[in-house]
This record gives sequence, structure tokens and C-alpha cells, in this order.
Amino acid sequence: MAVNTAGYQLVKKKLDVKNVTLVAVSKTKSIEDIQQLYDLGQRDFGENYVQELVDKYEALPKDIRWHFIGHLQTNKVKYIAPFVYLIHGVDSVKLLSEINKQAKKSDRLVSCLLQVFISKDETKFGFDEAELMELISSLNRNDFDRVTIKGLMGMASFTEDNSLIVAEFTRLHNIFERFKVQITETRHTISVLSMGMSADYQFAIDAGSTMVRIGSLLFGERNYKA
Ligand SMILES: *Cc1c(COP(=O)(O)O)cnc(C)c1O
Repeated sequence: MAVNTAGYQLVKKKLDVKNVTLVAVSKTKSIEDIQQLYDLGQRDFGENYVQELVDKYEALPKDIRWHFIGHLQTNKVKYIAPFVYLIHGVDSVKLLSEINKQAKKSDRLVSCLLQVFISKDETKFGFDEAELMELISSLNRNDFDRVTIKGLMGMASFTEDNSLIVAEFTRLHNIFERFKVQITETRHTISVLSMGMSADYQFAIDAGSTMVRIGSLLFGERNYKA
């Protein structure tokens, strides 16, 4: 399946007007496919699997900004901490502690988004609002000094009900606006709201997304559901 370059240009143009960052989700896609979008100017790519991300990082140009967007296991943080640009799916304090530890080992600051659970799908991950409030206090005490929190990430329900998707994205945007003012530790610069995928990114943008994660619209359908 070839890269949809016309689709890429169209989506990119639409997002540029709104100042929304496009993360091209390249999981399961080949080095050649990624290189093709790279040659068109794309620099932000998203991956879900640690080993796949490491292999692609090694094979591809070093000015690519690699986003880890999947569910990250604590025992795998060490493999991506040396180079990852942004970790989207931080969904537990335990994971955040491990990222902090591995960032220190790599002598880096690692940028993260906290994942918030907004959907009806039990298979999805993320903090609820009460857990998020607790974490805000901890961040303001500077408990994680090697992590820079850039914002929030969330996924809407997998549904045909567009009004539910809009409601979930709107709710996350409201949480984001409050989060921005509640974080007082100045190392954390809250500016990123990562929400929206191929099927729902238009709703996400209308609800205030600043970063979308789009795969199949650019690369074609994946061979296996990931
Ligand atoms: C796979 C994936 C995407 C991209 O999905 P598409 O429907 O192909 O655009 C976005 N976000 C996450 C977290 C994903 O796992």
C-alpha cells in the first residue's frame, strides 16, 4: 500500500491554517513509507511499539522527532529515553517515576503528556480527574525533576455517535484549560493538547486540539489492528 501523498498535503494544509501539529503515525509501516513523507517535509512521527521505534530511529534521519504514542511498559522506558521527543501516553505515577529515572541516566529532560481517560472504552488508559489533581500537586512540588510536562493527551470512544466524540473532546479541552493554570512549576510549559486520529480529527480540532495523531489517512490501512 503506497503512501497517500495527496492526502498528506491536504491534511497538512488544513492543520497548518489552525496551527495544529501533525504527528504521522507510522506504526507497522515501512522505512520506505516513512522516508517518503520525510522527503515531503514531515518531521514528527508516532510509534506504538518500543522495539519498532528503536529500529526505525536507528535507520532513519536523526532530525526526526519521534513521538511514543502507545501504552508504555515501565521496563521498556530505558530503550527510548535516550532519544524520544515526546511521550504521549503517560498514564500512571509509576511510569512517570521510571521515565524520570531513565531521563536522569541519559542526562536528558524527557517531555511527556499525561493521558486522561475520557472515553467509554474500558480498553483505553489514562488518569481520571481526581488522579490528575493529585498528580498536579506532586508536579508543583517538583517531584519529577527530569520530566517536562507539555500537556495532555486523550482518546475518544470508538463509536459512530459523533455527538459523544464531540462531548468527550470538549470535556478534555476543559480539563486542559484548568490544568494549564493549576500547574505552577515553571519548568512545565503546558501548551500541547494531543487529541484526534484519522476518523475524528476534525472534531478534535474544532474542540481545541493542538496536536493530532494520524496514521491510516496518510499511510493507508494497517495490516493488523494496533
Ligand atoms: C494508531 C493510533 C493512532 C492513529 O490511528 P489512525 O486511525 O490510523 O489515524 C493515533 N493514536 C494512537 C494512540 C494510536 O494508537
